Amino acid sequence: MPRQPVPRRQDQSRLLGGGDAGCRATKIAPSAQTHLDKHRDVAVAANQIDFAALDAEIAGDNAQSARFEHARRVGLEGRTPRHGGSGVPPVGVRRGGDTRIPGLTARHRMADMNTISIPVALYVVATPIGNLGDIGPRALDALRAADVIACEDTRHTRHLLDHFGIRAPAFALHEHNEREAAEKVITLLAAGKRVALVSDAGTPGISDPGAKAVAAVRAAGFDVVPLPGPSAAITALSAAGLADERFLFVGFLPAKVGARGTAIDELAATTAALVFYEAPHRIEETVADLAARLQPSRTLVIARELSKRFEQIAVMPLGDGPAWLAAEENRRRGEFVLIVAGPPPRPDSEVDAEAERVLQLLLAELPTKQAAKLAAAITGRAKNALYARALEIKGG
Ligand code: SAM
Repeated sequence: MPRQPVPRRQDQSRLLGGGDAGCRATKIAPSAQTHLDKHRDVAVAANQIDFAALDAEIAGDNAQSARFEHARRVGLEGRTPRHGGSGVPPVGVRRGGDTRIPGLTARHRMADMNTISIPVALYVVATPIGNLGDIGPRALDALRAADVIACEDTRHTRHLLDHFGIRAPAFALHEHNEREAAEKVITLLAAGKRVALVSDAGTPGISDPGAKAVAAVRAAGFDVVPLPGPSAAITALSAAGLADERFLFVGFLPAKVGARGTAIDELAATTAALVFYEAPHRIEETVADLAARLQPSRTLVIARELSKRFEQIAVMPLGDGPAWLAAEENRRRGEFVLIVAGPPPRPDSEVDAEAERVLQLLLAELPTKQAAKLAAAITGRAKNALYARALEIKGG
């Protein structure tokens, strides 16, 4: 398991210049490193934040300054936080000064900082969905600048953090504790700590925990800063090559057969492409349900193991999906995004996509005749055609 701090790059040394405190700090002194590691392990084992780690002597403080200088250059600093509720000033980083002051702790230093500022905020950081090389420099800098990292699964995220030599303590924020964990995040922000939020993979809040914490943090008056990056849905869409201009992100369909059928039926009239997430143990039944309940001539994209070794993107008519999956065991393995393209235009109908959309909206609220009449008035399409289509929709 890599424990070495990541050496700064040559170009950073050059940019920082000889007078900058960060320019010589490519290595954390061994004694302080041992101390930090010891506390880090305790924090991970207990699945809690270890504030003691922040009190470690900071012989590595210059390395931290260099890190923040890098963050400044890639654009994490310089935002003006609102801090409506807390009155806590942004945390800054001292640029000049000593290499090691015995007894001076990270906590003291933070109180003393006054120049570059990476504001106290919740940094929502997207992480790779399979290939660690997909993390961006701003996301890495946010993780490096974080005092504490809230993650779905601390052990899982520790692999990522170890890979990049990031040593911030981590605590769990998952679907079963999100409310309490959000309170913890707010307490940390109020104490002047920068907090990063990550999920196991991809973008937090997208079929992952995060939304409740983000809402609570914002309601408490703190900034929420998104660090964009990988998401399986967008990755799959980017390589799907579909003509649809609109898509609807559905995420996971219900696991229970009845509820799943109902959910698919409700989506049948949507003219946008539909984007689903699915787990390997349900992929066959979900594709079979989609093929049975949506038009089988619609295009299906099966995007499997994106950005990983066995990545596969297969495009076929939806009706062929079940047979394609059944043909080879490997096709049912891994992580899946399914995309069902929008329905083909109805050649025999005068009701185009826009009129259909308006009609659908009105039908949800009004009787059939009235909905058709209003839809005709709004779209300028023939009332009779809209009424016929409304009867079709109502009749299933
Ligand atoms: N937050 C994540 C995102 O932004 O994409 C999604 C998390 S959700 C719990 C996990 C699901 O995303 C998987 O079951 C799968 O459907 C999809 N997924 C994640 N990584 C994937 C990959 N590398 N290839 C295909 N699908 C993936």
